[in-house]
Amino acid sequence: MTRRNTSQQRAIGGAIEAAGRPLSIQEINQLAAKDVPGIGLRTVYRVVNRLLDDGVIAPVTVPGQPDRYELAEAAARHHHHFHCLGCDRVFDIHSCPGRIDRMVPEGFVLDGHEITLNGLCAQCA
Ligand SMILES: [Zn+2]
Ligand SMILES: [Zn+2]
Repeated sequence: MTRRNTSQQRAIGGAIEAAGRPLSIQEINQLAAKDVPGIGLRTVYRVVNRLLDDGVIAPVTVPGQPDRYELAEAAARHHHHFHCLGCDRVFDIHSCPGRIDRMVPEGFVLDGHEITLNGLCAQCA
């Protein structure tokens, strides 16, 4: 691995870690560009894919939206997401309604759940 790739990975991993919320490719690009000027979307995509392959980060799926990315370590702790319809940012929600199994139809086997709330964040509301 070249030095350049290492600094790109560090900038991108660092941006995701520092944000404390899932980031889109565009957001990662803006933040990483502070450390690696002119990094560009193509490079961000490539490094993000490598970090996904290496299990460092994990995708966050938001219905009807491009994926966001969070640290795999954060993804491993059960939590949910809030999508702001004003600024398009995604935030973590560290609570769970629980007892989702009561919603499952007779005879179905529940494997897990994902919940995405939407509305306006404190800044946009
Ligand atoms: Zn907002
Ligand atoms: Zn939950």
